Amino acid sequence: MGLYARPTELAAALDVLDAGVRAGRPPVIVAGATDHYPARVGRVVDEDVLDLSALDDSRGIEARDRGWWIPAGVNWTELVERPLPPAFDGLKRAARAVGGLQIQNRGTVAGNVCNASPAADGTPNLLALDAVVELASTRGTRRLGIGEFVTGNRTTRREPDELVTGIFVPDPVAGRSAASATSTFLKLGSRSYLVISIVMVAAVIVRDHEDRIVSARLAVGACSPVAQRLSDLEAALVGQPLRAGIGRVVSAAHLAPLSPIDDVRGSAGYRRDAALVLVRRALEEIADEPGRP
Ligand SMILES: Cc1cc2nc3c(=O)[nH]c(=O)nc-3n(C[C@H](O)[C@H](O)[C@H](O)COP(=O)(O)OP(=O)(O)OC[C@H]3O[C@@H](n4cnc5c(N)ncnc54)[C@H](O)[C@@H]3O)c2cc1C
Repeated sequence: MGLYARPTELAAALDVLDAGVRAGRPPVIVAGATDHYPARVGRVVDEDVLDLSALDDSRGIEARDRGWWIPAGVNWTELVERPLPPAFDGLKRAARAVGGLQIQNRGTVAGNVCNASPAADGTPNLLALDAVVELASTRGTRRLGIGEFVTGNRTTRREPDELVTGIFVPDPVAGRSAASATSTFLKLGSRSYLVISIVMVAAVIVRDHEDRIVSARLAVGACSPVAQRLSDLEAALVGQPLRAGIGRVVSAAHLAPLSPIDDVRGSAGYRRDAALVLVRRALEEIADEPGRP
């Protein structure tokens, strides 16, 4: 067993990271540890560990800077229980589908993103929310769009001396009068709960007071190493009336950014077909909800 550090101050956590990097032995970061432990079953664990779960100021979602700040210690339960605008409904639906209640009470939103699994349920929603990840080290802080931060299956742009301090979600309707944002998330697994996604779709749609789409953001997860935004479809949706039948705008060509694989959960062809159905359903579901300008 290596070093175990559980600081309460961010500065102390950054010093632990910095010291580990300088010694050529960067510690492994844990938050809720719900991804960390299952990845080590049956192995002797001798890594140094930096546990962030006691950090001050790492809980409590705040409205700030025309958006919302989700500190890195926020777990799925806290997200579900915090009153937030409808733009967060999709992310909240994902939160309710992450494991069971015990996992939701421990697992963090930031940990889900940092773990960079192609099947991470939070990531498509955060992509559709244009979320930004904040990283800190003893060298300073920097922010990266979530699409830049996650680079591949289990890889991110985090440097060994950096940790994620939180996730910022800009208000999708900032600067737009008489507009409202709604969102949804649809997950396909081999059963309803406690399941790894085969395909998932997140959508955030901004509409004007006449129910016309002014901005559309859609992301598909588990169909490529990193969840993908569907930019051609997003462009095709702008200006469309948001009403029943909107799903017919979606064609198979709009799914070109996806690169699904065959695995035990489903074939590539099945994933592609399911993604098409789920994207259409997500739009129909949003069209069915009243806007709130
Ligand atoms: C039974 C079970 C069911 C699950 N079901 C689902 C599911 O349905 N959907 C889903 O998406 N996930 C699921 N998970 C995975 C996991 O619970 C989530 O991904 C969770 O959000 C991870 O958060 P955590 O705080 O526990 O991360 P940890 O395990 O603590 O960390 C995960 C990774 O992120 C890094 N990390 C964490 N926080 C930071 C930080 N602040 N800065 C830098 N790096 C950091 C760690 O080093 C590690 O590599 C499940 C896990 C279990 C055990």
